[in-house]
Amino acid sequence: MQRILILMSDTGGGHRASAQALKAGFDELYPERFTINIIDFITDYLPWPFNQMPKAYPFLSNDAPWLWKILYGGQTHSLSTGLAQISRLMVGAVERAIAEHRPDLIISVHPLMQLVSMLAMARRPQRIPFVTVVTDLTTAHPLWFHPDVDAVYVASENTRALAIKAGVAPERIHLLGLPIRPAFARSPRPKVDLRAELGMAPGLPAVLLIGGGEGIGPVEAIAAACNVSLSQGGKPAGQIVVVCGRNKTLQERLAARDWAVPVRINGFVDNMADWMTACDCIVTKAGPGTIAEALICGLPIVLSGFIPGQEEGNVPYVVDNHVGVYVEAPTEIAATVARWFGPERDHLRMMAAQAQAMGHPYATFDIVKSIVNLIAA
Ligand code: UDP
Repeated sequence: MQRILILMSDTGGGHRASAQALKAGFDELYPERFTINIIDFITDYLPWPFNQMPKAYPFLSNDAPWLWKILYGGQTHSLSTGLAQISRLMVGAVERAIAEHRPDLIISVHPLMQLVSMLAMARRPQRIPFVTVVTDLTTAHPLWFHPDVDAVYVASENTRALAIKAGVAPERIHLLGLPIRPAFARSPRPKVDLRAELGMAPGLPAVLLIGGGEGIGPVEAIAAACNVSLSQGGKPAGQIVVVCGRNKTLQERLAARDWAVPVRINGFVDNMADWMTACDCIVTKAGPGTIAEALICGLPIVLSGFIPGQEEGNVPYVVDNHVGVYVEAPTEIAATVARWFGPERDHLRMMAAQAQAMGHPYATFDIVKSIVNLIAA
């Protein structure tokens, strides 16, 4: 058995999800050949106060986006220099992780792991193959890229260009899509079966509302507005599915409301591919994972907001490729959905086809195969 170590951290749901998707991809394609260990490098290996970073992330990205924008602006010289200095302090932690897990290959799915790992690698008599799988869709912080890594996996031309700009050799950059859970690679089951199983109304178009893994943003206001826009004229013109993620308060508040249209309210769901396939469009913040998954499922997208910095570029990605719109005001979002389910039905269908054409359902398997070729080479 060869050992693979995946370095991630729980700053947002996406890094863990990507790590788990890759593990599932290895297990499915190469059963019994690899032992995969996923570690939260920041929480479990770094000293205080650095190990508190994942705890601060929901606060920073949700409640203090202006502060996050400043911190994220690592392109500024002083912050980059600061991070480089901190990275030097963290080298010992990488050495400890390597000593504990003795990997034959390391995969990083986090922007803060490249520099520190390359510093650690430079001290070793023998280099361990190291690849980066970028979990951002279009905008990627420069720290994602280090010229010394063996391969970088990206999901868009824009990210490829950023990697080249950061000095990664073009032949080491692979554009294969975001590592999405293998469930999204399976042929979808019929909508009617899924709706029956998920307790949805069989015949009404469905909008899926989601605020990332943490259920952030004005999801409640959007749900309330959709309830109004889809119930005008007395008869429901659509149904609403809400995925609150880990936001229990949101789930409770929504459950306590009265609804005029059929509604399904969920906490954190493990069968996102089913929910997406059962719906007809999605309203979400500009999270890379959710967007990539929605494209695979052919869901036109209303983007209701973005986390400054890493999610900003996802807005033009969706809008310019004609697979959705960017609208912030909940009443306008609800009016858009009502139009898509009414007079603009044909436009919705066109966007759905375009979304599906842009999706990379096999990205995880393609990345895994490419990584295995690299070890074998
Ligand atoms: N997700 C999920 N179940 C939930 C809520 C979210 O599986 O109940 C997944 C979602 O499918 C996506 C990820 O969590 O893969 C969210 O990632 P995204 O990049 O959209 O946003 P983040 O939460 O990382 O900011």
